Amino acid sequence: MVWETPYFSYAVRDLPKGCRLCVRGEKLVLFTTGACPRDCFYCPLSERRRNDVVYANERPVKSLEDITEEALLMDAKGAGVTGGDPMARLERTAEYIRALKETFGENFHIHLYTTGALATKKNLEKLYDAGLDEIRFHPDLFNPDSRLFKVEIENIRNAFDFDWDVGGEIPSIPGQFERMRWYAGFLDDLGAKFLNVNELEFSNTNLRAILERGYRPISDESSAIRGSLELGLKLLEWGEGNTSLSYHLCTAKLKDSVQLRNRLRRTAKNVAKPYMEITEDGTLRFGIAEYDDLDELYELLVEEAEVPEEWLYIHRKKGRIEMPEEVALELADAIEGDVRFFIVEEYPTFDRIEVERIPLP
Ligand code: SF4
Repeated sequence: MVWETPYFSYAVRDLPKGCRLCVRGEKLVLFTTGACPRDCFYCPLSERRRNDVVYANERPVKSLEDITEEALLMDAKGAGVTGGDPMARLERTAEYIRALKETFGENFHIHLYTTGALATKKNLEKLYDAGLDEIRFHPDLFNPDSRLFKVEIENIRNAFDFDWDVGGEIPSIPGQFERMRWYAGFLDDLGAKFLNVNELEFSNTNLRAILERGYRPISDESSAIRGSLELGLKLLEWGEGNTSLSYHLCTAKLKDSVQLRNRLRRTAKNVAKPYMEITEDGTLRFGIAEYDDLDELYELLVEEAEVPEEWLYIHRKKGRIEMPEEVALELADAIEGDVRFFIVEEYPTFDRIEVERIPLP
């Protein structure tokens, strides 16, 4: 039976372990390199991430400490290692996996996505020895005549020599049902555990290639591609009757509204300052005052407006003083002149993206 999960996604049999923690926003997303041997037309990576860069969630990584700090801030229960192809920087990837296991313990569940192009036995052994729990293969399924695809498919067999969970991860591309079905059968014959299917979505970088191939978004408000979800469901129904794999159809809605929101809420609890309110969506809401001379403004707020110092924080980099929303509302009424007051809402993430800014009269 295909069942709907509480996270707006669909499954056959049990959810893969890597997905179970991920849907609840409990996994750190560790991006170990943008390098990749492939060039998929649907690749969603931003221009910046197409380079050899490392990120822990949104935080650029310069050292191991950046990774552990980000994991602590979100109370991560595990990590999903992604790229690019993390195996394109194997030593680095293995080092990070080992370090996460050493720091957070054996039960910190780690899964990794790879094309399979570099998955020789020797390379896989390095990941296994580092402590990897689950590996997911995304071969060049829609280019079956390419040399790379043949290498990837041969390499996938190597993964079954190790005691970890092996599965597949592919996008649901309208018109490609036969290829998807072939891959499900291939994995099943090898004794794999699961196949995770992603609803196709456009991003800034793949939009043109997706439109050129005739695909269209389901609406003006959504980045999901028409027909992808239905095709994924068709595969799950077929797979339920014809294979013993577990399936998970991961929807655009799951990623936007459930997984991200859960991760934001977990992080917000740890990073919110006393003057910030945590919203339902996991964003931080507070008041700010902007003025050319922050020290002068601070003095004015403390000495003349008599705002307790513990309610104020000078954020020099952003050129503002932060405070509780209620204080900003009162001050906006009371203070005249060039000081500008706003209520802002920000992601609690490292990049602190501002999602709302309301000017106060
Ligand atoms: S394998 Fe993944 S990272 Fe590499 S090009 Fe394809 S979609 Fe992008």
